[in-house]
Amino acid sequence: MSSKDGFSAEEIFTRQTGYAYNDFIILPGYIDYAPDDVSLDTNLTRNIKLKSPLVSSPMDTVTEAEMAIGLALWGGIGIIHYNNTIEKQAEEVRRVKRYENGFINKPKVLSPQHRISDIDIIKAKYNFSGIPITEDGKLNSRLVGIVSNRDIDFERDRSKSLAEVMTTDLLVAHEGITLNEANKILKSSKKGKLPIVDDNGRLVALMSRSDLLKNREYPLASKDDKKQLRAGAAISTKNEDRERLEALHEAGVDVVVIDSAQGNSIYQVEMIKFIKSKYPEIDVIGGNVVTEEQCATLIKAGVDALRIGMGPGSICTTQTTMAVGRPQATAVFRTARFAAKHDIPVIADGGIANIGHISKSLALGASAAMMGSMFAGTNEAPGDYFYENGIRLKRYRGMGSKEAMEAGGSNRYFAEDAKIIVAQGVSGAVMDKGSLNDYLPYLIQGLRHSFQDMGVRSVKALHDSLRSGELRFEIRSVMAQREGHVHDMYSYKEPQFM
Ligand code: GDP
Ligand code: GDP
Ligand code: 5GP
Repeated sequence: MSSKDGFSAEEIFTRQTGYAYNDFIILPGYIDYAPDDVSLDTNLTRNIKLKSPLVSSPMDTVTEAEMAIGLALWGGIGIIHYNNTIEKQAEEVRRVKRYENGFINKPKVLSPQHRISDIDIIKAKYNFSGIPITEDGKLNSRLVGIVSNRDIDFERDRSKSLAEVMTTDLLVAHEGITLNEANKILKSSKKGKLPIVDDNGRLVALMSRSDLLKNREYPLASKDDKKQLRAGAAISTKNEDRERLEALHEAGVDVVVIDSAQGNSIYQVEMIKFIKSKYPEIDVIGGNVVTEEQCATLIKAGVDALRIGMGPGSICTTQTTMAVGRPQATAVFRTARFAAKHDIPVIADGGIANIGHISKSLALGASAAMMGSMFAGTNEAPGDYFYENGIRLKRYRGMGSKEAMEAGGSNRYFAEDAKIIVAQGVSGAVMDKGSLNDYLPYLIQGLRHSFQDMGVRSVKALHDSLRSGELRFEIRSVMAQREGHVHDMYSYKEPQFM
């Protein structure tokens, strides 16, 4: 027995009982700094860093481009689901990657003979309308003008040629200029776009003023070295998803999640090896796993991070139906402790219902938390709101639910050829949470407060404190759990978020 108050995680999570997040509590530390001094910087994978440890689940009621853009702007990342065609999934990734740029290296270009209506088509699809005009309408051809919204927004005749409306007096920068220099020109020029040309006046790239504003407004944003937002996507372990992978790679995906409910399989090992040899620049998150032995297989195969969880998800029936899985707090502690020896980050996936659960997952050694139900009620989740008993709701369903599998999501559960489908999830609804632009800052600030209470200033300090035994825990009795939540009130109003 140690002489310090409370118990180390080692003492608690290596016994016979498996624990959930609500079973334990973390004892407070010493505070000598403000919440704003806390850094939530973390590693999603071996190579990808995030400023917020927040990841959205690859589920068809959670993550498409809008969710992934919102999360990346606030320092997290979204994993785009694959319950769709290859083209659709790749398009979602492309939308995330196009959203913000340094140099736009493959801008949409038109020729003087194109019509205003051609810009309308681009605008409808991509939501931008600043189009450089080159002699033959292609990149690397001589720049002759630019058309922006202002040139065309009041023009009634959409069949007019772009030659008639384009601006020809152009401020340009030359190939080889640094991003910093180009940004300076953009700032002082008061123009919306800055075309970059080579010595012969041929267009090679474009820059947009709105990207400077996005960069200022979202200082936490998760970006690659081209200043494009990070995007993740899920694939199955099936051989035919190699084709999907090719399309995702083409679209610029940063990281793929191999989506499997029980990740310790030969199919997954082969997929990991295939990705690492063919696309070394894409990071691979393997899983799901919950035991040290499962981690060992996937680490040996070459994963860059592990996704932890079997059965804790809010929509999930796996543990009940399959009798296999593990309580999530124990699973996160054991796998993180093992993976840390190999410098592989783990992502705690499922069962997170509030800020406290995110903190607990990180305190047990996870580097990031993946959530479905937490995000499914936001504006940015796919699907429309509807009302039930006067409450504004959005649909949320497990990818192993009958409904999702019928829509094509059976790969994760090895059920694709089966005549009888055994569901491992349910379909239902969650409450409206409003916009990620309000919700994510709330989660981030809540986490900073939680870190302050634990007496740690960073994710790394938290992990160090966990491993040294400095961080202290206690198991909560059932009565203690009841005491630890609102009780003995005649009535009260739930806070908007928890
Ligand atoms: P920062 O932390 O985002 O400033 O990243 P860096 O230090 O790598 O930035 C280098 C330069 O790129 C700075 O002048 C930034 O303002 C600028 N920058 C960062 N993100 C973007 C972006 O999305 N678009 C543009 N045009 N510039 C950016
Ligand atoms: P616009 O003035 O209508 O072109 O739109 P904004 O300047 O407000 O936004 C353009 C946004 O789309 C910026 O964040 C660009 O980085 C991004 N973008 C991505 N690809 C392209 C492209 O091919 N052309 C343009 N104009 N913008 C692009
Ligand atoms: P939540 O954050 O809602 O508690 O859980 C989301 C996680 O549940 C997902 O990231 C995924 O790992 C898991 N999940 C999604 N759909 C299903 C399903 O139908 N069955 C099971 N067992 N797990 C699911």
